Amino acid sequence: MQQKFTKYLEEQFSNPSIAKQYLIEENDILFRYESLDPLCEDTHQPVKGLIHKYDNRALIKVSYRCAAHCRFCTRIRQIGTADGDLKEEASIPNIMNYIKAHPEITDVILSGGDPLYTPKQTLLILEELEQIDSVKVIRIGTRLPIHNPKSFDTLLLKSVLDKIAAIQKKKPFIVLVHVEHPDEITPEAIAVFQQLKQTGATLLSQSVFLKGINNDLQVLKTLFEKLYWNGVMPYYMYRCDYVQGLEHYVCDMNEEIAIMTELRTMLSGIAYPTYIVDVEGKGKIPVPLGFWEHTDITNCTDFDNNKISLL
Ligand SMILES: *Cc1c(COP(=O)(O)O)cnc(C)c1O
Ligand code: SF4
Repeated sequence: MQQKFTKYLEEQFSNPSIAKQYLIEENDILFRYESLDPLCEDTHQPVKGLIHKYDNRALIKVSYRCAAHCRFCTRIRQIGTADGDLKEEASIPNIMNYIKAHPEITDVILSGGDPLYTPKQTLLILEELEQIDSVKVIRIGTRLPIHNPKSFDTLLLKSVLDKIAAIQKKKPFIVLVHVEHPDEITPEAIAVFQQLKQTGATLLSQSVFLKGINNDLQVLKTLFEKLYWNGVMPYYMYRCDYVQGLEHYVCDMNEEIAIMTELRTMLSGIAYPTYIVDVEGKGKIPVPLGFWEHTDITNCTDFDNNKISLL
C-alpha cells in the first residue's frame, strides 16, 4: 500500500518531499502511540490559550488556525478547528492578567496554529505584551513565510511587522521560522526573510526529523546552510513527537544521531541547531551525539528529575 502511495506522490507532484508532509494514505496511519497530547500541554494550561510549563517562559496559542495542515503537526488534535480562537473581551485579558501576576515569566512565545495567520489577534496580543515590563523577550513561531509568502504584502501583516519593529527597539524580538526541507526556501520565502529582518527581529529556525522527507545528511546540510546563508540561524532540530497518528513520520533515532553527528563535523557552529527530544512531562532534552561512548538513548532524565523511557 505504502509503495503504491509513494509512487503516486512521485508521479503526481514535482516535489514528493513536500507533498509527503501534507498527504498520507489513510490506510497507512498506524495509531501505535497512545496519546494525542504526549507533551501534556493540556494539563499545563492555567488559562485558555496559555501554556505555562517552564517557569520563566509561557506559550500563547493565538488560535488553532494555520495556513496549511502539516500531516505531522504535533498539535494535529487541534489544528484547523475554531476551538482555540481567543476572544478579545475574555481570553486575551485573562492571559495578560496571568502573565502580569507571574512576573517570573520573562519570555513569551506566540504559537498556535500560526500566529501570523490571524494577524488581528496577534497584533492585539503584541500591543499588550509590549506594555508588560516583566516580559523581556517576545517570540513568534511561524511557517507562513513558507506556506503563504504572498500574504506578507497585506496591510494587516504589514502592521504586525511594524509592531515588531517598534517592540524590537525596546525588547529582543525573535521570529522562529519552521522549515523542513531546503526546497521550501524559495525566492519568495527568502524575500519574506528579508522583510522580517528589516524589522530588526532575530530570525531563528526550527525543524523536525521526518521519515522519507528530511532524514538525510545532504538534505539537512543543504537546509541548514541555506537558512544560515539567508540570515536565519538554525535553532532546534526536533525528534518527531510520539503523537498518535504520526508514527509514519518518526525516524530511527540512531539514524538521526548519526546524521547530526556527521553534520556537526561539516557545518559552521552557527549553522548547526541543537538536536532535541521533547519529552512527556517537562524538558526539551539535548540528545547525546556519537562523539561519546556508552550513552544510553533509551532512557533519560527530564527537567523535573523524572526518569523517562524513550523508545
Ligand atoms: C518549546 C516550548 C517553550 C520554549 O522552549 P525553549 O527551549 O526556550 O525554546 C516554552 N513553552 C512551551 C510550552 C514549549 O513547548
Ligand atoms: S505550520 Fe505548524 S501549526 Fe501549522 S499545521 Fe504545520 S506544524 Fe502545525
